[in-house]
Amino acid sequence: MHLIGLPELSVWPARARIRAAILNSGTDWPDARITVSVSPTIPRAFETAADLALALVTLAAAGVIPPERIAGRVFLGELGLDGRICPIRGILAAVGAAVQAGMRTVVVPAECAPEAAQVPGAVVIPVTRLAEVVDRLQAATLDGARYRAVGPSACPASSLDLAEVPGNEAARRALEVCAAGGHHLFLLGDGPATMLAERLPGILPPLDPGAAREVAEIYSLAGRSDQAPGTSPPISAPHHTSTPATLFGSVAGNRPGAVSLAHRGVLHLADAPEFSRQVLDALRGPMGNGEVRVAGLGRTVRYPARFMLVLDARPCACPEGGDCICTPVTRRRYLDRLVPLLPRVSVRAPVAWEARREGAGESSAVVAARVAAARERAADRLAGTPWRTNAVVPALELRTRFPAEPAAVELLRSTVQTGQLTSEALPQVLRVAWTVADLRGADRPTVEDAVEALHLWTGDSSDGGR
Ligand SMILES: [Zn+2]
Repeated sequence: MHLIGLPELSVWPARARIRAAILNSGTDWPDARITVSVSPTIPRAFETAADLALALVTLAAAGVIPPERIAGRVFLGELGLDGRICPIRGILAAVGAAVQAGMRTVVVPAECAPEAAQVPGAVVIPVTRLAEVVDRLQAATLDGARYRAVGPSACPASSLDLAEVPGNEAARRALEVCAAGGHHLFLLGDGPATMLAERLPGILPPLDPGAAREVAEIYSLAGRSDQAPGTSPPISAPHHTSTPATLFGSVAGNRPGAVSLAHRGVLHLADAPEFSRQVLDALRGPMGNGEVRVAGLGRTVRYPARFMLVLDARPCACPEGGDCICTPVTRRRYLDRLVPLLPRVSVRAPVAWEARREGAGESSAVVAARVAAARERAADRLAGTPWRTNAVVPALELRTRFPAEPAAVELLRSTVQTGQLTSEALPQVLRVAWTVADLRGADRPTVEDAVEALHLWTGDSSDGGR
């Protein structure tokens, strides 16, 4: 058997797996010279997914199974040497592509069937052993074994509730504004920043079916279908020691990274100044255009990565609970590492460990209802435009099509003139002012909304809030 079209290094192991699987399935190895041509070639990371198909075309060429019974079907699965059909990664994207190409019948490893059945229009046939596939192809009974989904698994809503976060009124308000407008958030101080970030998906609206499918495909490709969040927005919180490949994905592994696992959800960078400057710089790409580009092996792969960013930082690098020996200069230098990202982060808030007060905190359900109403208001206003949330409305549109009240614009212009605000920051503050107005149910931002947006921009909570 000759295999043409696979990278040289892959030919021998592929041939060995196929041969062993066929022999161990009780079928004779064909007594003929067979050439199998793979075209176009298969990316290295997915080669083993083609094992089952390669074995079947070999057997068809040898006359063991009628060729017309494999035509028009997609076979996915890695072969074990004993003839077992083993699960593969990325089944959702593979089956999605098959259906799009008009091949609706997909034969997949049994473990992958529930995932494959999520693709609308796919006829999924689960299989466990090569011998079973060969028998059923010979008897023409393959289609009888169609997989029937037991209905979409109801994903339990996040059990994390905002009511559990002690105090921190300013940070909770900031979280709500970010959820309503899709703005990025920076939490500064020693406090429950992680608790707040983890509760952000719980106050965001559920994903629409299209977005949920995008998220599921990314988790499938990453080999993490078991952790896919269903219709609730995902959260991804990589550690600052993660490698660039873990964060942004890799071409060689054909695997999206932690940044893409945050797509349509939340990317939380805890202790953000501890991330390398290179990583923080690279994050500007997806924050600008919603995708990650990874280069390698002479190719560039693009993974979606449209997320809300939550950064948090303690005031300095001293160990938690230890004595701080920092000067104001070393503290500023520590936070200066975030300079590449901060111009795009329009909401800042302090966090601190505060005593829990009885009945002080609102529950996630109450906040989520306000967020949903505000998002609906923004979506109505933005209907017919490419934008859905205030965070992405271009600066020009804020001046022309969606102006704030003249007095509010005047106030913000005067803060630019006095140097309290840079002219680059002005549109960011205006976007947040729109979100504050949407949360209030107002038609457009007033002076009060602009003042709160300014406080949220500077992170100064002294007289912020409502
Ligand atoms: Zn310190």
